[in-house]
Amino acid sequence: MGEKKKTRFKEIKTHPEKCSACISCQLACSFAYAKSFNPIKSRIILNYIGDIEREISFSDDCIKCGICADHCNYGAIEAVAWSD
Ligand code: SF4
Ligand code: SF4
Repeated sequence: MGEKKKTRFKEIKTHPEKCSACISCQLACSFAYAKSFNPIKSRIILNYIGDIEREISFSDDCIKCGICADHCNYGAIEAVAWSD
């Protein structure tokens, strides 16, 4: 009920300390929205700081669909549902 939800999930949280840099999230997103397995075309952005530390962010055209979270087997992306 209430206002119409514009996105499937309320929020996409990240836990970069769990990221293994497997890029499954980027491949899934780019295939879904750019029809190619190309991390550069993904709406999820991985930055590598040295060999271990990661930063995970999203481009402005991310629609919070949760596909990237569905494809992360390491718990580094969490799709948070609307509560109502
Ligand atoms: S939530 Fe959807 S649009 Fe946003 S980065 Fe993940 S797969 Fe891409
Ligand atoms: S799918 Fe998960 S573990 Fe793999 S690169 Fe993306 S955030 Fe990191």
